[in-house]
Amino acid sequence: MARVRAHGDVIQPPAASIPSRERGRDERAVVEREQEEPGIADRERGQRAIVVARTDAHAAALPERAQRSAVALAELADVHFSILPCSSRSALPLRAPILLFMQVGRFAIEIFSDGVFRQDGGAMFGVVPKVLWEKEKPADELNRVAMEMNCLLIRDTAGHIVVVETGAGPKLTEKSKRNFGIDAPPRLLDELARRGVRPDEVTLVVNTHLHFDHAGGNTYRDGDRIVPTFPRATYVFQRLEWQDALAPNERTRASYFADDFAPLETAGRLDLIDESVEILPGIRLDRIQGHTRGTQTVRVSDAGQTLFFSSDFMPDRHHLRLPWIPSQDLFPLESLAAKKVILPRAIEERWIVGFTHDVPRFGRISEQDGRYRFDEIPE
Ligand SMILES: [Zn+2]
Repeated sequence: MARVRAHGDVIQPPAASIPSRERGRDERAVVEREQEEPGIADRERGQRAIVVARTDAHAAALPERAQRSAVALAELADVHFSILPCSSRSALPLRAPILLFMQVGRFAIEIFSDGVFRQDGGAMFGVVPKVLWEKEKPADELNRVAMEMNCLLIRDTAGHIVVVETGAGPKLTEKSKRNFGIDAPPRLLDELARRGVRPDEVTLVVNTHLHFDHAGGNTYRDGDRIVPTFPRATYVFQRLEWQDALAPNERTRASYFADDFAPLETAGRLDLIDESVEILPGIRLDRIQGHTRGTQTVRVSDAGQTLFFSSDFMPDRHHLRLPWIPSQDLFPLESLAAKKVILPRAIEERWIVGFTHDVPRFGRISEQDGRYRFDEIPE
């Protein structure tokens, strides 16, 4: 039986609002300048996000850390707490993710996982010795660590339905699934369906980059053809990522599968962007060179709040530590530089943060004595 937290249990002290004159201060090139939100009156700036949280009936089946915060939470000031429909709950698989739903001004944003894949722990943590990283993330008998493939669903009051990341998708061969430690079917479409979203209703798809674990669900096999999973959506990628994905080299080849993205051009669903672009009012994509040349982050801003989705230059909370940089990153020193710009700003502006490969959660970053940490938005 699902347990839904009562209103009073989740109210937190108001977050400090950022005066509008300070927004845009300390701007740097990596994360593009904020523009003042058109149409947002000053009186609305201090308004906080609304978070709706619900618990999961199957929390006990989740890994320890997930279970610890099986109750989703919310910070917010003018908090509204509502109870989401739970009618489909009985159909949940045992390893259902914890669900989070956050309202950031006019945007309703959810984070969920498409599933788990596994990759070499040494590769995931770069120069960090195993004696350090395995305390944070235990390895299996093949020295692999398990990672969620997180996606966002963003809906606004204008009717846009945006999906960020599409997981590993349904086209992997048995051998690839074995190699990547994927032992369950992709969940993306089921997760969308549970939220009342059909594939033909999605208006925009964003991949932070085109590696298989982010772009695999973009397309599916229909007989002999590979076709877009979201037939009416525009798919938005960085142009540099598109170019590099279509012409991989010996080092990058294993991460890109052309069937995940090349058919989108044929279908006329492609929108390639350069650098920092506000693809919809309030939704910004910023190219962050580091993991690849054309990796992009996602920021959603309204009503004085910003939600930031990291991309793989900082795939989970462990990578907040500055030297913890995956060996897959093609430009590790630029990943480092990006962290040095983005993390102080995330703290100063109290961004709500979600990661690509952590347990699906929203949280905030803080810093003490030069060490950054991630706190899930508290119960
Ligand atoms: Zn990834």
